[in-house]
Amino acid sequence: MAQDLGEKIEGSKDELLAELNEFLRMPSISAREDGGAEFRGCAEWVRDKLREAGAEARIMETDGHPVVYAEAGEGERTLLSYGHYDVQPPEPLELWESDPFEPEVRDGELFARGVADDKGDVMARIQALKLYTEEHGPLPFKLKFLIEGEEEVGSPNLAAFARKNKELLSADACLWEGSMKDDAGRPMVFCGTKGMAYVELRARGASHDLHSMYGGIAPNPAWRLVQALRTIKDERGEVTLDGLDALADPPSDKDLEAIERIPFDAEAMKASWGVESFDRELSERDALREMLLRPTANIAGFHSGYGGPGSKTIVPGEAYVKMDFRLVSGQSPGPVLELIRSHLRKRGFEDVEVVDLHGVEAAKTPVDAPVVRTAVEAWRAVGNEEAVVYPTVGGSGPTSLIATELGIPTVMAGSVANIGSRIHSPNESARLADYYEAVRYFAAFFGRFAA
Ligand SMILES: [Zn+2]
Repeated sequence: MAQDLGEKIEGSKDELLAELNEFLRMPSISAREDGGAEFRGCAEWVRDKLREAGAEARIMETDGHPVVYAEAGEGERTLLSYGHYDVQPPEPLELWESDPFEPEVRDGELFARGVADDKGDVMARIQALKLYTEEHGPLPFKLKFLIEGEEEVGSPNLAAFARKNKELLSADACLWEGSMKDDAGRPMVFCGTKGMAYVELRARGASHDLHSMYGGIAPNPAWRLVQALRTIKDERGEVTLDGLDALADPPSDKDLEAIERIPFDAEAMKASWGVESFDRELSERDALREMLLRPTANIAGFHSGYGGPGSKTIVPGEAYVKMDFRLVSGQSPGPVLELIRSHLRKRGFEDVEVVDLHGVEAAKTPVDAPVVRTAVEAWRAVGNEEAVVYPTVGGSGPTSLIATELGIPTVMAGSVANIGSRIHSPNESARLADYYEAVRYFAAFFGRFAA
């Protein structure tokens, strides 16, 4: 079956590429408020492509950019497909070797803003639906498309949309975007994302900066924060926030086994960072487990006093630190925020203010869930035996709205992008061969989902 579609795709490469290029020429930059009619035009174009592929498609309004929603096929099971039609701003333009909105092929690679994130993925799924239907008739299950226009600005309206449309989005499983191939060309299959609690800690001293002759007697908020921070991570680099570990769902044996099978080149990672060793001199496998299974307490920024050239002798009046805690399944941002507050209070730091900036839930689908098996089998069906299953990734995202809040098993699979695709950067690209393979992959996925 997959072979049949392979030939069909082989014979329609030009049309498939022309259609993708049309999509890539639309500058659907969600960060620009003046996007207006042009932006809506892109949503309407996606809706029309879905209709051409045989789906019932419509535009659905949000408080921001609209969502494109569609349904195709009929059957007992339902698959929700998530992607986004918006892109990152292309700047700095002078670093692009070709126009970001005029796709160009060089050495088998297609260069354009959005080709790897996420228009290639969105288009490949729509084309897979069209070709599958032409070859085999309607899908034997219900396929729902949720294609939003605000992913690149943090999906500010997706939570409200998902809560309001719970019934509409209900499904047995969700195929999310955002997968890629690793540096050896192996497809990565992701089963979860970390959550996040983003906070700012604030300390205050005198009402204004003082002459540092008072350095021995004036309260110094920068030192105050340093001391508070030292209670959150010890001198060995272990996170010591009260009660954080107890909240975590322990990894399953299957998660641990999956992690052992992940190829991980620690030396290459360290070389690309320009460092000799990982934090705490973690070994290769420990570093991988730490990255995927453990929460973090990261200092993202620290501001106080004078940081300009030369010397200035003051006792600063205030100090701020921004911290992101990447969380694993079970550690919800709300309860973690309370842990941070009570941890500091208990140690006499009630004067340190903890400001909640941003929270995201973790998402976790079991590595042996049927939809994960389908994702791996679909790779085999297109002749790729090397798919690597990741129980989670280190990053966070809106996946949790579907996986955690709506409780739909969610997998990120199907790779137009590769690790060198320069997502969000100048000269974003995807290999043409990977694009056509992705169309085949999604068709193979659809062919197996109902089984
Ligand atoms: Zn992106």
